[in-house]
Amino acid sequence: MRSNMFRTFRGRLALMYVSLELGILLFAGLLLYTALSNRVYNEVDEELTNQATSLASSLEDTSSYFWSAHMSNFADHYAGAIQLISANGLELFRSDRSLIDRGGNDISRALGISFRSGRPAFASTESLLNKANVRVIAFPIYRDNRIIASLLLGHSTSDIRSVFNLMYLIGGILGAISILISAGAGYYMAKRALDPIQEITRIARAVAAGDLSRRLTSRAQEKEIGLLVRVLNKMFADLETSFMAQKRFTADASHELRLPLTILKGEIEVALRHPRSEGEYQQILRQQLGTIDRIQRIVNDLLTLARADAGQLELVQTPVDLSLLLQEVGQQHLILFDSQHVALEMDIEDDLEIMGDATQIERTMMNLLSNAFKHAPEHSAIYLSATAVKESVIICVRDEGPGIAEEQQGALFDRFFRADDARCRKDGEGAGLGLAICKRIVDAHEGDIWVQSKQGEGSSFFVRLPLHRAETAHQQRVSDVMDAAKA
Ligand code: ADP
Repeated sequence: MRSNMFRTFRGRLALMYVSLELGILLFAGLLLYTALSNRVYNEVDEELTNQATSLASSLEDTSSYFWSAHMSNFADHYAGAIQLISANGLELFRSDRSLIDRGGNDISRALGISFRSGRPAFASTESLLNKANVRVIAFPIYRDNRIIASLLLGHSTSDIRSVFNLMYLIGGILGAISILISAGAGYYMAKRALDPIQEITRIARAVAAGDLSRRLTSRAQEKEIGLLVRVLNKMFADLETSFMAQKRFTADASHELRLPLTILKGEIEVALRHPRSEGEYQQILRQQLGTIDRIQRIVNDLLTLARADAGQLELVQTPVDLSLLLQEVGQQHLILFDSQHVALEMDIEDDLEIMGDATQIERTMMNLLSNAFKHAPEHSAIYLSATAVKESVIICVRDEGPGIAEEQQGALFDRFFRADDARCRKDGEGAGLGLAICKRIVDAHEGDIWVQSKQGEGSSFFVRLPLHRAETAHQQRVSDVMDAAKA
């Protein structure tokens, strides 16, 4: 359970906060202790020096016979311990317990230094902040420029220790409180930051399990998490859209294929019911060929769309004389249009050149023209025009047919979309794939396709394709040659 907690981000963050805080507190405590103890030493040492200086100077001015009395007089008013050692090692005076005995080697060493160097030396009986500790000065006493004795003055540090104790206590309590607060704050902050992650996990699981309509609702204040929530919501929405499109596509595709297959099966069953003449068989087979043609068209169109979806729509990119291509496509339709008394009026600018796949562009134009023809009333006209506008060419196919309702125009380029009821079409009519294919082809040429139509007022289909400027290509070739020469 404990190891589990520290495996979570929350637990780790809290642990990190606590360790960091503990480290900082210990470091600060150590620094404070060193600075304060140095300061205390200095103050105690200064006081000891002052007292030792004044006592030593009064001893130096007094005959050694009176030292004992002088010392006991001083000791009566002095709070610490006093000891006086002569140069030959004799103890001349001591107030209570021997300082040398208490301090051991350190005080003896200080005493030795004071005798040898003639300067005051300091020592402590134990660590400075210990209750029983005494800070000691060994101060040399001169007579006729000779050191004749050394004065030991001891100052207890027990009062300082009580101050330090109080400091330890307050510091410890404050430290513990601040560590607890940091741990709590770290845990809370991590929990708050991670709340959306829990929601993300939950929703992502639901989406993965097939509930594609689920969305994240958390309003994270953290910019990064907020961004993640938005990106994921967009991803879920895209997933749902493409999944629904797939579903619709599969349903429509199977429906479209089922209908001609059912017809085919019915025709064969009827044909087999009783023997027929050769002429009858030929007629039935011709009918069936028509149905098979339709199935083949649908399958081919689906294949084209599937390739386009997978980014495999193969375009042979060559310069295409669009003016010529449009003229030819128009000419090819003249006889058919004429059979229904539909006129074709062409207004195509000369020398329009694009970069692209002539076969696919031709297929697009054929689709648009045959759609226009399908909807054109008798004795009406279809207009085919192409004009250069800036860096593009705008092609327009306009008819005087029934037009397309505004609410249907948005879905016109979707697969299997048919403005009239799709399920009650005559055999041989389109499956609603033509415009979807046109859009794919135009998109692959980095162009646009759109419609303008009002019900009862005919329809105009526009295609914009980027123009290919021969001089631009020429300039590019020249600059390529120049670059190659430079290299
Ligand atoms: P289809 O092969 O069935 O014609 P399309 O994708 O070419 O499929 O067209 C989709 C639908 O758009 C058609 O069913 C038709 O109702 C509508 N449509 C296309 N062109 C025109 C037009 N020129 N006038 C009116 N409706 C049109």
